[in-house]
Amino acid sequence: MLPSSADAAALLESLRASVPSGVLLEDAADQAPFLTDHRRLYQGRALGVALPREIAEVSALLAWCNAQRIGVVPQGGNTSYCGGATPDPSGLQLVIGLRRLNRIRAIDAADFSITVEAGCTLAQVQRAAAEAGRFFPLELGSAGTCQIGGNLATNAGGLNVLRFGMARALTLGIEAVLADGRVYQRLRALHKDNTGYDLTGLLVGSEGTLGIITAATLKLWPPLRSTATAFAAVPDVAAAVALLTELQAAAGGRVNSYELLPRSALELALRHIEGVTDPLAAAHEWYVLCELSSFADEALGTVLAQALETATDAGLVQDAVLAANERQRASLWQLRENVPEAQRRAGPSLKHDVSVPVARLAGFVAAASQWVRDHVPSGTLVAYGHAGDGNLHFNISFAANTLPAALAAQEPVVRRAIHDLVAAHGGSFSAEHGIGRLKVGELERYASPVSLAMMREIKRALDPNGIMNPGKVLAIS
Ligand SMILES: Cc1cc2nc3c(=O)[nH]c(=O)nc-3n(C[C@H](O)[C@H](O)[C@H](O)COP(=O)(O)OP(=O)(O)OC[C@H]3O[C@@H](n4cnc5c(N)ncnc54)[C@H](O)[C@@H]3O)c2cc1C
Repeated sequence: MLPSSADAAALLESLRASVPSGVLLEDAADQAPFLTDHRRLYQGRALGVALPREIAEVSALLAWCNAQRIGVVPQGGNTSYCGGATPDPSGLQLVIGLRRLNRIRAIDAADFSITVEAGCTLAQVQRAAAEAGRFFPLELGSAGTCQIGGNLATNAGGLNVLRFGMARALTLGIEAVLADGRVYQRLRALHKDNTGYDLTGLLVGSEGTLGIITAATLKLWPPLRSTATAFAAVPDVAAAVALLTELQAAAGGRVNSYELLPRSALELALRHIEGVTDPLAAAHEWYVLCELSSFADEALGTVLAQALETATDAGLVQDAVLAANERQRASLWQLRENVPEAQRRAGPSLKHDVSVPVARLAGFVAAASQWVRDHVPSGTLVAYGHAGDGNLHFNISFAANTLPAALAAQEPVVRRAIHDLVAAHGGSFSAEHGIGRLKVGELERYASPVSLAMMREIKRALDPNGIMNPGKVLAIS
């Protein structure tokens, strides 16, 4: 029988008896940050918040939850956008925070691999790799706070996907605790291992619905020795896509970041973020921020400058600036990385993390922008993001005094129109942020019946009592 709120006190007593002291946060103020997501879209309650220090404690917690039919909500850095790390309002779920599992277990520079615990922040993993003379390419604006366990659970993307792939592509092995407390361990630095189903790949991107990731073995690369970064104005999205093709050819595939920004995004950053300046003299409708990098000492600035010159002659580039030093490079990236924060400060917004095949990006942006102009006249379109991966944060910003109720009333109509256009362009309604709680209905609508059935069967097989992150990713009746 499923527990009810009348059982809460007895359950808490039993939970206290099942874990060593110090694992449970009892104080309401200490628990509070774990009960809401960072966008404040969701506010939950919990039976408790547990911060295990050892794998054995994670295992004991899950075994207890499974026996008592208590829902478990794994939480990393709590920076994700879809409410996946927030408990529901029942007060009967257990939040398990991974922050204390934060050891770098091993670095093998010769093997280009690192084994880390789930609660390490992404920045900590990047630093450990750098100290060993290696490079870990996952890069997100939230690197200082998000945890590698959360990155893998969401199959995070970010700024270097074009060249290095998403989190799944960077993962060699996983250690995870399953719903019944068993530990799946495959922390091997093998690049080739064709022995049955890809269970590591399955756990990556499962958003805490199949188990708790406690550690991972990740791929490393040699340190980057040269980079070249440019900010270029382009006449339109089609030119931005054509410029990417030119740059890839000129740089022999060494483009690691290719970000698209509309003028509206630049203006938000200029208005709301201190220290941001317009890199170019005149205003333009669209910009790209691109970066080449190499593991060797190379004159990449020359390669980039020549490619931009050729592109200017072809009418693909209207103006451009190359970062002359690390300070200028940092300031170009500061501009890009502060767009979400600038948008938050400007007022409320409707956000869509979508992707389409790169060759269809211009067609999608044209159609979706026209729809927004026709149907949301009070909104400002801020469609920016990882265009090199065909991924745009297709956001609509509203004035600060917009009433939440007015926004909420528009949201379903806008979401449906944008996501239907994404589907019509062969794309995905969730490029890199996952499903969480926010997009469960979207997955129901856009995934094929066969894929939904397969996902449900996998879920039932690994979590027959449905305790792992209930209400996230899949609607289970
Ligand atoms: C400024 C900013 C920039 C961002 N930029 C990007 C970007 O470019 N690309 C991108 O993809 N995302 C981006 N994000 C979103 C976010 O940082 C990522 O989704 C990140 O991977 C989440 O990690 P986290 O540790 O915060 O996870 P959380 O938010 O804590 O959890 C996310 C999900 O994973 C589950 N989970 C967490 N840890 C574990 C674990 N150990 N085992 C099993 N399940 C777990 C949770 O239950 C939840 O469902 C950005 C966020 C911010 C605030």
